[in-house]
Amino acid sequence: MDFSLTAEEQAFEKELEVFFEAEMKNAPPEFAGGLEGIYANEEGNNFHKYMAKRLGEKGWIAHAWPKQYGGMEATIMEQMIFDEVRGRYGAPGIDAFGVGMFAPTLLVGATEEQKERLLPPIAKGEVFYCQGWSEPDAGSDLASVTTLAIRDGDHFIVNGQKTWTTGGHYSDHMFLLARTDSDSKRGKGLSVFNVDMSLPGIEVRPLLYMDGNHIYNEVYFKDVKLPAYDLIGEEGKGWDLTRQTMNFERSGQGAYAGMRVIVDELIGYMKNTKRGGKSLADDPINRKKIAQLIIDCEMGTTLGYKIGWYQSKNDAMNIIWSASSSKLLATELAQRLSQYATEIMGSYGQMEDDPEAPMGGHMANLYQFCKGMTIYAGTNEIQRNLIAWVGLGLPRLKFKP
Ligand SMILES: Cc1cc2nc3c(=O)[nH]c(=O)nc-3n(C[C@H](O)[C@H](O)[C@H](O)COP(=O)(O)OP(=O)(O)OC[C@H]3O[C@@H](n4cnc5c(N)ncnc54)[C@H](O)[C@@H]3O)c2cc1C
Repeated sequence: MDFSLTAEEQAFEKELEVFFEAEMKNAPPEFAGGLEGIYANEEGNNFHKYMAKRLGEKGWIAHAWPKQYGGMEATIMEQMIFDEVRGRYGAPGIDAFGVGMFAPTLLVGATEEQKERLLPPIAKGEVFYCQGWSEPDAGSDLASVTTLAIRDGDHFIVNGQKTWTTGGHYSDHMFLLARTDSDSKRGKGLSVFNVDMSLPGIEVRPLLYMDGNHIYNEVYFKDVKLPAYDLIGEEGKGWDLTRQTMNFERSGQGAYAGMRVIVDELIGYMKNTKRGGKSLADDPINRKKIAQLIIDCEMGTTLGYKIGWYQSKNDAMNIIWSASSSKLLATELAQRLSQYATEIMGSYGQMEDDPEAPMGGHMANLYQFCKGMTIYAGTNEIQRNLIAWVGLGLPRLKFKP
């Protein structure tokens, strides 16, 4: 198998490296990257929005979309190169919800009018979305959502509560999953909406994470009047559409490139730090841990290429289980990486906001942040179920909590 890039792909990679190298100089001091970087404070969020505008100008937000909606119909390989280079620089600017989930959902399920109205502002990096799916009693069992959106002429009246809404406090819109038939059960009677977060009756309350950061929210709806033109797809058929959105949510790549950069920083720290007169890099146990992390990063990158190959063939079943495998590997690798790093640092590994903290305290920070990773975007138990059912053809068992 030949993994080498063509001359055009190498030129594109170089162009991206030059772009991100220059633009990341505009990052605020101590920019944390990831969800914390873009949602935990105003400066980080402003930088995310600035980068989105710059990426929009380059045409790289809508890179893969059809030309008629402002896209460039980029190949899967070009998208993977983009994700990898962006991951390497830890650059913000791509809205995981608007660009990563809602735009592809619109492309498969929206009317022409909705595509023309809603896609261009996403492509230009002008609007930002949050995901309104989970509720206090509906997470893995998402089909049991109870938020109601009841039709009233040209509107739907929404009442209910969403929870864990990432970035809701900085979002212009939400894509909402709600029940449009109050007598319906589970997947029947659900619908998808584009919601303007500034509508009267919407209240966003912080849900602070264990490290005190404000990234997540609870969102309350009280008699919110949603225009019917923002119903996406058919009324009552939102579950089918949402199942398609789930596959977009799980196919994220680029995480491995970011983790590989962290491993290299960790190697640098080990080489420059002595304990008991010996460099940490000379300790065989540390070396073994680092070798395993590098193997896992390489494995993830190769898995990413495999997903890309399935995508290029529109091979839906193989995309589902391989994307689940990638979500599993990436999130558990992030936990292993932060655990090893903080172990290698000894007591210093617990320091976060301190000038003496190794690697700027990022590892103590990642250690806490990545606990949530194996829960969001479908818990890792759910991903294992999918791998078993779809990938291995094992029988589907009913789970009784
Ligand atoms: C940091 C973070 C960010 C999030 N961001 C968002 C967001 O932006 N928007 C949004 O809508 N939601 C978001 N979520 C919610 C997330 O999608 C849910 O937390 C997740 O789907 C799990 O649902 P739950 O919390 O209700 O747990 P439950 O579904 O109650 O699960 C509890 C436990 O039971 C296990 N379990 C449940 N069902 C099965 C089964 N069938 N087989 C095997 N094991 C099972 C689970 O794996 C888990 O270990 C976020 C969550 C976190 C932690």
